Amino acid sequence: MVSLLQQLPVTRGKYRESASLAKMCWFQVGGIVDVLYQPADKEDLAQFMSNLPDHISYFVFGVGSNILISDKGFKGVAIRLGRGFNYVSSEASLVKAGAACLDINIANFCCDQSIAGLEFLSGIPGTLGGALAMNAGAYGLEIKDVLLEATAVGRDGQIRQFKSEEIGYTYRGKQLDKNWIFVEALLKGQEGEQAEIAAKIANIQQQRLGTQPIKSRTGGSTFKNPEGMSAWKLIDEAGCRGLTIGGAQVSEMHCNFFINTGDATAADLENLMKEVKAKVHAKTGVMLEEEIKVIGN
Ligand SMILES: Cc1cc2nc3c(=O)[nH]c(=O)nc-3n(C[C@H](O)[C@H](O)[C@H](O)COP(=O)(O)OP(=O)(O)OC[C@H]3O[C@@H](n4cnc5c(N)ncnc54)[C@H](O)[C@@H]3O)c2cc1C
Repeated sequence: MVSLLQQLPVTRGKYRESASLAKMCWFQVGGIVDVLYQPADKEDLAQFMSNLPDHISYFVFGVGSNILISDKGFKGVAIRLGRGFNYVSSEASLVKAGAACLDINIANFCCDQSIAGLEFLSGIPGTLGGALAMNAGAYGLEIKDVLLEATAVGRDGQIRQFKSEEIGYTYRGKQLDKNWIFVEALLKGQEGEQAEIAAKIANIQQQRLGTQPIKSRTGGSTFKNPEGMSAWKLIDEAGCRGLTIGGAQVSEMHCNFFINTGDATAADLENLMKEVKAKVHAKTGVMLEEEIKVIGN
């Protein structure tokens, strides 16, 4: 029988068979992916995409801070952008970064360069690629507000630039086809005072420590905030704070964050999501929508 690996294009990147995705995600749950592919750079990724046979499924991820991988894992290829996409530079107040760059590293780099306006990124524990896909935001700003242009690789291997408006950003989402893989972005900041920028970042870190279970195995906000409402308040009202299924628990600190208390399975977390959704609907009439992306077969 021809293995999946044998059907994949020859690339300059790295392939790893039977990789455990749990170790690469914040929740630390989930099964095995047939093949993990780490492209060398955007040209390598483009060549991979254009030669990937149609019947092979794939998905891309960053540091897994907003995804839940199924216990059965993923049949196909998981694409993870690594070293070749981890860079950040600036010219005046324009910041260019690769999609694997952590948001916090972009914020800290901007601080070093006295570039203001991107401090909010220090509160989001993902990569720039994840932020571009999710329209990540915090403290009144979203990535769309600071994005000038994003570069992405398409399913056919095309490399294209998109202006922020062309991506069609919505709250924690976008209209652009999900097959586009973001590889780089140009962000706009403004000239600032280094001490002020550093103080804003320190303040954000302090606030997060007191309000989010950032030291736990979590996936960030589980549900999107319905228009004009807070998901956590609805969850609290429905009596779900601390609710537990198996090793999965609704955080006592912030009830829109779910936690793997140690031995949770992805099924425990998925069941908890279903249970909370049902209880919130029964109590308030509001049907919550997942922010976390559930991935797997
Ligand atoms: C403790 C904690 C706090 C959080 N706080 C916030 C917050 O304040 N605000 C906020 O918005 N989010 C928050 N999050 C959620 C999460 O950090 C963001 O959504 C982040 O942008 C996800 O980045 P990632 O690299 O982890 O992406 P992943 O979780 O790996 O992927 C998320 C989605 O993005 C897609 N994706 C990833 N990389 C790419 C790429 N290069 N091209 C195309 N698609 C891609 C994936 O397919 C998936 O659909 C928090 C999460 C945690 C754990």
